[in-house]
Amino acid sequence: EPMEWPTRDLLTHRAETTPERTAVVDADEGETATYRELDAAVDEVAAAFEALDTPNRRVATLLDTRPAVGRLLFGAMRRGLTLAPLNVELDVETLGTQLEALDADVLVCERDTEKLAAEIADCPVVSVDAPDDSGVGRLLSDKAVEAGRTVEPVELDRDATQLVLFTSGTTSDPKGVRLTVGNLVASATASAFRLGVSPGDRWLVCLPTYHMGGIAPFVRCVLYGAAVAVQREFDPEGTARVLAEEEITGVSLVPTMLKRLVESGWTPDLSLRFVLLGGGPTPRSLVERCRERGIPVCPTYGMTETASQISTARPETAFEYPDTVGQPLVCTDVTVLGEDGPVGPGERGELVVSGPTVTPGYLADEATAAAFGPHGFHTGDLGYRDEDGRLWVVGRADDRIVTGGENVDAGAVAAAIRGCPGVADAAVVGLPDEEWGQQVAALVVGDAELEAVRDHCRAELAPYEVPKTIRRTEALPRTPSGTVDRDAVAAQLQE
Ligand code: ATP
Ligand code: MG
Repeated sequence: EPMEWPTRDLLTHRAETTPERTAVVDADEGETATYRELDAAVDEVAAAFEALDTPNRRVATLLDTRPAVGRLLFGAMRRGLTLAPLNVELDVETLGTQLEALDADVLVCERDTEKLAAEIADCPVVSVDAPDDSGVGRLLSDKAVEAGRTVEPVELDRDATQLVLFTSGTTSDPKGVRLTVGNLVASATASAFRLGVSPGDRWLVCLPTYHMGGIAPFVRCVLYGAAVAVQREFDPEGTARVLAEEEITGVSLVPTMLKRLVESGWTPDLSLRFVLLGGGPTPRSLVERCRERGIPVCPTYGMTETASQISTARPETAFEYPDTVGQPLVCTDVTVLGEDGPVGPGERGELVVSGPTVTPGYLADEATAAAFGPHGFHTGDLGYRDEDGRLWVVGRADDRIVTGGENVDAGAVAAAIRGCPGVADAAVVGLPDEEWGQQVAALVVGDAELEAVRDHCRAELAPYEVPKTIRRTEALPRTPSGTVDRDAVAAQLQE
């Protein structure tokens, strides 16, 4: 039997242990809350939830990045409710479908999403910015701390679904992933063994808090007794200032954000212990620039279905092996599955993961059945391990271009191009080619010279990976869920 914990609400434990430590920093408003204050605010949220009718035990949110997400999450935990943060960038139709799949009892919105919420919801809507007569909105708002409304926490069930998060929708429509209390705690625990924990840690979140990367730091920090700093919107100058002024020790970013920081001339302060870099592959050129500037970059492979990290390379590993994501976390097993079963070091295959961070399944049972096999959860990503167990992710199984008999991963080529100075974004697809079967083609956003992009590719990639066609566009065509529309990219490249 694995160790049976946690047995009680994480925040209750934390507030009893270190009540005076800083819990949350609102970097935009310049406000902070201690764990005692956060605990009182979460009591308010729990009281608000108690006042609502929640027969399905599910609360959806339509909130942009803001500190309230942490209070809602721990308020939900205190009442045994599932929190389902929806992506505010999605279109009405997609959001309506997601809300229907969730069967949520209530939708929590804010001023900027009130209209959208009313359009998609057939359940009650509560705004944290426009208090209703019951005062529930006020209890949920950023400002609420009206101590003394203690709600009896329900007994913690580690197998209960604490969060439902939707995947990014890169390969198909976004899938609703169920994550249990146990998944979240296992992930936060294993993360600490890789990145370390110091009593004065301050973790900056400037990623959307409706994706795994933006919400995981809240769980980690409450478990560790660290502070989470929230900045609503990333921008190179503003984020560099917050990193310095708030003496941030760790930050979660996606590669494009770090690239923009580096290009703006930012250098890290000594307080910064790690930059956790996820969401997609880290271009080699970016890792190299981090090494030159002493930026403690930690390239990471993770996904919604594993409550974030699967594997993270510490800076010293990344600087020696720029393309690896290091060894998988201590509790995560990664099997490389070839055509005829698991394969050994150096051989490629699909990455299949198992361990306590892995979701028990999606909202839809058919999707769950399709994703699990005897070795665990099928990620749909391809990769390999080396003799020391380091993991290399080479891309998505269905993102492969076959040109002249060589396999090219479109995602890896796009990542390399994104590393080129003057390139803001890039998409790579295979186009039909009479001679080679398929040819590698790239659509690029930014003011880089196309010849410079080609030179950059020649320096970073194998000759057969270098795009034959490179074109510029104003903005990449996107699907309603915000991911790159590959068919439209191909059409534009063939015009
Ligand atoms: P959907 O599952 O709906 O298609 P998605 O997989 O993009 O969307 P996420 O869970 O946000 O949704 O992203 C996880 C995916 O991101 C991984 O499966 C992988 O393809 C990609 N990814 C994450 N980190 C890396 C990395 N270091 N290198 C390469 N790919 C990565
Ligand atoms: Mg996925």
